[in-house]
Amino acid sequence: MKDATRTDSFTNGTLLAAGVLVEPAQNGYFQPMAFDEMYQEIIRDHYKNPRNKRPLTHLKAVENPSCGDSVKVEVDSDSHQIRQVSFDGSGCSISMCSASMMSELLSGKSVSEAKTLVSRFLSVIRGELPPDTLDDLGDLAALKGIVELPVRVKCATLAWHAVEKALETV
Ligand code: ZN
Repeated sequence: MKDATRTDSFTNGTLLAAGVLVEPAQNGYFQPMAFDEMYQEIIRDHYKNPRNKRPLTHLKAVENPSCGDSVKVEVDSDSHQIRQVSFDGSGCSISMCSASMMSELLSGKSVSEAKTLVSRFLSVIRGELPPDTLDDLGDLAALKGIVELPVRVKCATLAWHAVEKALETV
């Protein structure tokens, strides 16, 4: 998905914030050995049946054309309450399943709650909080093994940095 520089204008009155982040392609694919069976299944499910993945008609952001994994995020919200977080993009299983989990977790949350969740996830992945901190965040717990796979950290955090950026503008 390399259709860079989309500047679609809004087509309805809904406030939408878009964040786009892209990262260089990572070598190789998801290495399931580092995850236990249950988590592998959750990751596989989000990869095969991504939640809230759809073409983003309201996207107003620029893509870096020199990238591999690409995640675009839209936040449909007013200044307090998120209705829906959607994403689109292409990339490895970790980047796509992390985006799917992110959209599922943040949809319906308040903006401040969402910001807290985003920084909590990023802190865990950066090793600043223990991995178990993700245990009460549903499917997201499946990504805690990423901490042990530094090469995949950028894949896992792509959608989260994108939504963090999007949330700054709501
Ligand atoms: Zn990746």
